Order: sequence, then structure tokens, then C-alpha cells
Amino acid sequence: MIKRFSIISSIAILAAGSAYGAGEGAGWEYDGELGSHNWGVISEDYGLCEHGQMQSPIDFDGPITAAEIRVAVDWSPSPLLMSNNGKTVQVGFEQGSNFVSGGETFNLLQVHFHTPSEHLFSNEPFPMVAHFVHASAQGKLAVLGILFEEGAANPEIQKLIDASTEVGADPVHVEGLDFDPRALLPNDLGVYRYMGSLTTPPCSEGVNWHVAQDAVAAHPSQISAMIELMGNNARPVQSINSRLIVAPPK
Ligand SMILES: [Zn+2]
Repeated sequence: MIKRFSIISSIAILAAGSAYGAGEGAGWEYDGELGSHNWGVISEDYGLCEHGQMQSPIDFDGPITAAEIRVAVDWSPSPLLMSNNGKTVQVGFEQGSNFVSGGETFNLLQVHFHTPSEHLFSNEPFPMVAHFVHASAQGKLAVLGILFEEGAANPEIQKLIDASTEVGADPVHVEGLDFDPRALLPNDLGVYRYMGSLTTPPCSEGVNWHVAQDAVAAHPSQISAMIELMGNNARPVQSINSRLIVAPPK
């Protein structure tokens, strides 16, 4: 029951469109005394960060089962609702954008960014990742991670950089702008999949994790601008323990 409650309370935070953890629970940081290595002792609510056995992110290295995971994305543009609490840049979505995985439908709540990527591939990060957070009607969470590599400029990322000067920790509608999440999708949606957790306190478990195999591009100057806005906001990788990790067939 306790675990279920913590997941639901996290969804409430997400659904409210506020940034991860803002205004809720004990303060935490990525580095220093309140940094990720101490999250489990900052607050008793954050115990899973230290003792959980199904934590995220992970390194996609080692024993992996190859299988095709069927996922489907049905997203649509939404008026740009954006926040930056100094830990992440986040965009909230209206109802109606869905993600289907394992026959279950999840509604898109928000996307936020990390620089560099939290998940690693043989110990190597990508320079940036977008985490699309979805919830089912039953309150289960599914995240789709989209990796970024250096390349052509991405117009949707540019909207966030341009709007960042008028945005703070509280979500605001940026006048006259829509955000199209489809512009952040690779053509081929082969995904890695495993069961994990939120990567920020309270590190709630039961999150259906998907990370797309194919990266999308953003211009190096755009990635630098996002680093400028958020700093290093990647939690270190966690033990896989006995979890099943599924990768797309080669
Ligand atoms: Zn994230």
C-alpha cells in the first residue's frame, strides 16, 4: 500500500504539470550533500532511492534479451506549457496524447529533459535525452526516453530555448506557441524496455521504462543551451539486479 500511495502521489505532482518534486518533499540536488548519493538518507520518503531493487537509470550493457516490443505513439500538438525549476526544463500536455505499450494505454502528461542522458549504452551517455512521462487510467506510469545526438537543429527544442527567458519554476503558457512532441520522435520506434523507477526522489518504482534505440538530432548549440538551462541533471546508473532487460532485435 505504501508503495502504491507514493506512486499515486508522484502522479499527482506530474499531472498538476509542476516540475518534479517542486514544492513537495525534502529538498534535493544532483551534487553535494543533498546529491544523488545521499537521496536515500535525506528523507524517509526517499528510502527507495537507496534500498530499491528496481531503480533507474541503468546501463544497457550485459545480459539483454532481444524481442520486439510493440509500442504505438498517438500524440498531438498542445499549447506550450513550460517550466524550468533549475533542475529540468519541462513541458506539460493537454489530455489526448496517448502511448500504447503491452496492450495498455497511457496518457502523455509531460516531457522533461536531462543533460547528459541518464541511461547509458556500454557506459556511454548521449548528450541529451527527453523523457516523455505517461500515466494509465489505473495510475501506472510509462516513460519513453528519446536520445539526442548532435546534428541538425530541432525547431521544437529551439522554442524551449527561446521561451526560457520568460519561464520559471511554475508552469506558464507561452503565448501563441504550440509544442509538437511528434517532432522529437525517431522514424523507427524500436525500444529497450524494463521495469524501473522515477530517476528523482522519491524514486518510486513500478515505472514501465522504454528508451528508443534510434536517436534524434539537435544542433550542438541547442544542446549547449539546454545544458546552460539545467546543468548536469543525470542520476548515476543503478544496479540491474535480477531484472529482465529487453532490447530491439538487431
Ligand atoms: Zn527524467
